[in-house]
Amino acid sequence: MNNSEAKLEIERLSNELNRHNHLYYVESNPEISDYDFDMLLQQLHDLEEQFPEFVSDQSPTKRVGGDITKKFQSVTHKYAMLSLSNSYSKDEIQEWVTRAKKFVEDDLEYVCELKYDGVAIGIQYVDGKLVQAVTRGDGSQGENVTSNVKTIRTIPLQLSNDFPQDFEIRGEIFFPLKNFHALNEKRRESGDPEFANPRNTASGTLKMQDSKVVSERGLDCFLYGIYGADGRADGHFELVEKSSEWGFKVPPSNERYIEKTNSVQGVMDFINYWDEKRKDLPFEIDGVVIKVNNYDQQEILGFTAKSPRWAIAYKFKAERVETILEEVTYQVGRTGAITPVANLKPVQLGGTTVKRASLHNADQIEKLNLHLGDSVYVEKGGEIIPKIVGVNMDARSTSSASVEFLNHCPECNSELIRREGEVQHYCPNELDCPPQVKGKIEHFISRKALNIDGLGAETVDALFAAELIKDIADLFTLTFDDVVNLDRMADKSANNLIDGIAASKEIPFERVLFGLGIRFVGETVAKKLAKAFKNIDELAKASFEDLITVDEIGDKIAMSIQAFFWEDRNKEVVARLKEAGLQMEIVEKEGSSNKFEGLSFVVSGVFETFSRNDLKAAIESNGGKNVGSISAKTSFVVAGDKMGTSKLQKATDLGVKILSEQEFIQLLKD
Ligand SMILES: [Zn+2]
Repeated sequence: MNNSEAKLEIERLSNELNRHNHLYYVESNPEISDYDFDMLLQQLHDLEEQFPEFVSDQSPTKRVGGDITKKFQSVTHKYAMLSLSNSYSKDEIQEWVTRAKKFVEDDLEYVCELKYDGVAIGIQYVDGKLVQAVTRGDGSQGENVTSNVKTIRTIPLQLSNDFPQDFEIRGEIFFPLKNFHALNEKRRESGDPEFANPRNTASGTLKMQDSKVVSERGLDCFLYGIYGADGRADGHFELVEKSSEWGFKVPPSNERYIEKTNSVQGVMDFINYWDEKRKDLPFEIDGVVIKVNNYDQQEILGFTAKSPRWAIAYKFKAERVETILEEVTYQVGRTGAITPVANLKPVQLGGTTVKRASLHNADQIEKLNLHLGDSVYVEKGGEIIPKIVGVNMDARSTSSASVEFLNHCPECNSELIRREGEVQHYCPNELDCPPQVKGKIEHFISRKALNIDGLGAETVDALFAAELIKDIADLFTLTFDDVVNLDRMADKSANNLIDGIAASKEIPFERVLFGLGIRFVGETVAKKLAKAFKNIDELAKASFEDLITVDEIGDKIAMSIQAFFWEDRNKEVVARLKEAGLQMEIVEKEGSSNKFEGLSFVVSGVFETFSRNDLKAAIESNGGKNVGSISAKTSFVVAGDKMGTSKLQKATDLGVKILSEQEFIQLLKD
């Protein structure tokens, strides 16, 4: 492929991928399978590597992230990004309407919209290309988070049809509840503390330095405020509809996410409808927004210093009740993290009876200044567990005692510790504290680890109570007779369980490693470690330096791994697992070695003997690493035919050694 052919093909693939992306994410109406989509993306990616001079900033390959932002640049908003004035009662809405009508001296149409509980964003498009995305910041200046925003699949990188030449569109980036819960599930598995709410997590995610991580988290966005597209429509509602033709995911009017009405009654209907239905939404909202539709009328109404006069937010009252705090108890998690739980006098809230609320940690208790017997306010938002938001001080008895955080573990009485910089208290007695021991066994048998058939949390409890197991290795000494004597255990289930345990000996090493429950070693990290160290013995004796040279392994994980293998009892458990016949090394494919250990390669161009993918596979199976772009750290560039001249130049400039295909093959043989 020559240069001009490559340029055309990159454009063709980009357009095709943008179209399919839109069909999938915005219209939920895909034409091709996920697999075919990935293949197209791979084709584009390969071609871009070969011809880096034609990579555009709007390339669909930017969706997967990879750009690192060290410090977010501050940007001045072209149109001030004001916040709306809030109201909490329908009377205030009525007053706002009356004032607006008086001002305009005419009838008004209103647009009602959802008030998404997320992070406001302003995105600039020039010639149909996404060029910049900026957070609200203080309203006049925000942060440039463009590379992170590009990873959000519902935001178009390239517009289609008759879009304005240079304009800004605003909306709200939020965390869909499904993705938020999945993220927390993953964090639970790797022993990281869970995130408390979707809004703050969305905001934190948007400001992460590594856009690849942002890409994986699955943020979403609705766009609905268009600036600089004068004359395209008379009213806000019409312009939002129009902008969907340019490729934006706008709030759907058929689901009543946006609605136009000419009466106050219509506004009230919208408020009432969503006050009731908001709990069914797949994301969180905290109110609705009402705007005057017509742009001319908006202009007449103008702005106050802080907010537009043509719009107002109505905030839903959080469902809040008052009840008595009877007791604070403490839960001990698998990793020893202590979570305080408020035990409440049962009360009805949002259609369910609430008896408990999470208090998260000691700081939270202190912040609320809780006393036992206090009358507390409890709120519930979305699906999140209820929380205590305050204390009714007038109702406090003078004799009540303040809540003091525990000093000792409620399960094993060990003295609790709190590591520097962490908010959570921990029970350090990892190996003997019952909930930690049981939690570790439950993790070991869970679906993504050993996935043992016929064994669940209840059975683990029973086996533990009967003193048949006290660590994960004990599972492999269980006999049919041991198990069948447990309560409610039939012959058939006992057989299933024993068979399930036997079958788990075939589970690959990386899943066994994940199952060990080493703190911060989640599924992905376990895979990386397995690949890098090949077997448990090499991993156990790896030095701190060995560990941190592995991709994605940082100080925190490395220390945690070392601490695990320093502990004699962990070593003993690992030895017993090995003896029981579990997979403690990865099964090597033929032709593999460690000869490229620590070396990084950039593969570019077209080859005779190898396909590019085979060549890359050969590098990896010999311990080397494939990287996308040339830097001073690159060990070798393997250059095929038709490699881009700018790449060759860069390699030469940086003094990176360039190998021909034949030289590479020689290196493999040596
Ligand atoms: Zn304990």
